[in-house]
Amino acid sequence: MKLTVLGATGSIGVSTLDVVARHPDRFEVVALTGHSRVDVLAAQCLQFRPAFAVVGAASDAQRLELLLKNAGSRTEVLHGAAALSQVASLPEVDAVMAAIVGAAGLPPTLAAARAGKRVLLANKEALVMAGAVFMAEVKHAGAVLLPIDSEHNAVFQSMPYAYAGDMARGGVRRILLTASGGPFRTASHQVLTQVTPEQAVAHPNWVMGRKISVDSATMMNKGLEVIEAHWLFNAPADRIQVVIHPQSVIHSLVDYEDGSVLAQLGNPDMRTPIAHALAWPQRIDSGVAPLDLFAVAQLNFERPDLARFPCLDLAYRALRAEGNAAAVLNAANEVAVAAFLERRLSFLGIAELIAATLDAVPQAALPDLAAVLEADRQGRTMATEILARLGARSA
Ligand code: NAD
Ligand code: MG
Repeated sequence: MKLTVLGATGSIGVSTLDVVARHPDRFEVVALTGHSRVDVLAAQCLQFRPAFAVVGAASDAQRLELLLKNAGSRTEVLHGAAALSQVASLPEVDAVMAAIVGAAGLPPTLAAARAGKRVLLANKEALVMAGAVFMAEVKHAGAVLLPIDSEHNAVFQSMPYAYAGDMARGGVRRILLTASGGPFRTASHQVLTQVTPEQAVAHPNWVMGRKISVDSATMMNKGLEVIEAHWLFNAPADRIQVVIHPQSVIHSLVDYEDGSVLAQLGNPDMRTPIAHALAWPQRIDSGVAPLDLFAVAQLNFERPDLARFPCLDLAYRALRAEGNAAAVLNAANEVAVAAFLERRLSFLGIAELIAATLDAVPQAALPDLAAVLEADRQGRTMATEILARLGARSA
């Protein structure tokens, strides 16, 4: 199978290449992309010998070219957003790992879907922003969409065989998405007022990129995942329930009409869903240690606290509002998380900024990609304006 890995230098990208390297007979890497970590991308290119490597800026492309040329590599270096979509839709590519973080990943992920590829979707923001447009393109092109997000991969594995988006026909009552609760699961409101970026990115169970780590701390990650589940499985908001499960061993569950509940379990390591989607419908070694249930010993469950984690509630609200609301929510969240990481916004300010942005941007329909990108732009502009006002007030 010939692969393009979008976001190869990130947490998911590195885990993907770890699995790929275990099966040299099965996988061939055609293209790797990374935004700015040129040294990491150069090392990956020397190991996996892709035909193409893509970076963001022209200056980084020059640096990468030089590093590769000096090492005798024949990888061709491209740069810029258009090159991402180009390597995602090359005719010789069978599968595309979509592991760019945030809205920047939407155009190349959509390009892969349009080209009818097997799309391994980690970039949940793409689906949150553009769910209807994206799913229509997948269907139209006959692309195969396989979820990498551990919860959705677990749901996919627990769904009826050949589930085609009809919960009633499949006898499915509810989707139960598990959530670790993040680093502040038991923290008081008082503690949450003082949270620093360093504390927020230190997740108890998973090692991930900075943005998704902050999303896990606010529980916006679970909110985005509720919206992601809605689109992937054609499930209405009231059939998707979030269950806090601090051990992160059950990755999610499907509740059937007959009372059966099927779940997927495993150690919290993204190489499991990655290997599952890479090899589907076969199974391959992922490098993940076998689950030791005696060491796990206990599986606990709690109801999420929407008062302490209002981001989860905001995401349900955006999903129920339909139209542009989820795209605006996602844009506002990206602005808020970046501001929090730069210490321009408090931890609790993240939810406040998103709520204010959702209230301020008028409702609109999202019939096509142009409308999605406009909603994204409006959400970012409004969130940035409100943030500036907040800053002026507290100064
Ligand atoms: P990361 O920050 O570690 O890596 C992000 C990747 O995207 C890097 O390769 C970076 O170079 C690239 N990138 C960033 N900005 C870009 C831009 N403007 N243009 C092009 N490329 C850009 O993030 P991650 O943790 O690997 O997460 C990637 C995606 O997978 C996210 O959407 C995240 O929500 C999702 N995801 C991650 C995990 C996890 O365990 N890390 C789990 C589930 C879902
Ligand atoms: Mg997840």
